Amino acid sequence: MSGSMRSMSIRKGDSVQVVTGKDKGKRGKVLRVDPKSRRVVVEGINRAKKHMRPSKANPQGGIVEIELGVDASNLMLVCPGCDTPTRVSRVRAGERSFLRKCKRCDTQF
Ligand SMILES: [Zn+2]
Repeated sequence: MSGSMRSMSIRKGDSVQVVTGKDKGKRGKVLRVDPKSRRVVVEGINRAKKHMRPSKANPQGGIVEIELGVDASNLMLVCPGCDTPTRVSRVRAGERSFLRKCKRCDTQF
């Protein structure tokens, strides 16, 4: 079975570090997660300029910077306990939920 069917460990609000690509080494906060595509939108990571047509909300139109998101496999969770990018194991925390457990310091989050 491929790993892609597993539910993702990364959640909105997590701190993550980019481990490959042009933003390698940068950290940011997770803004959105799309479990289907396994793309994760991270604050300040993989930004691109986008031209906006004028709209009601933004009558001038213009250029805005948006985060395009990165593949979950390019990210590592940053443990809030040891402030280090780390692999995690899962600890059951209810019928359908689990906590992540840091493999370095055993912090559960
Ligand atoms: Zn840790």
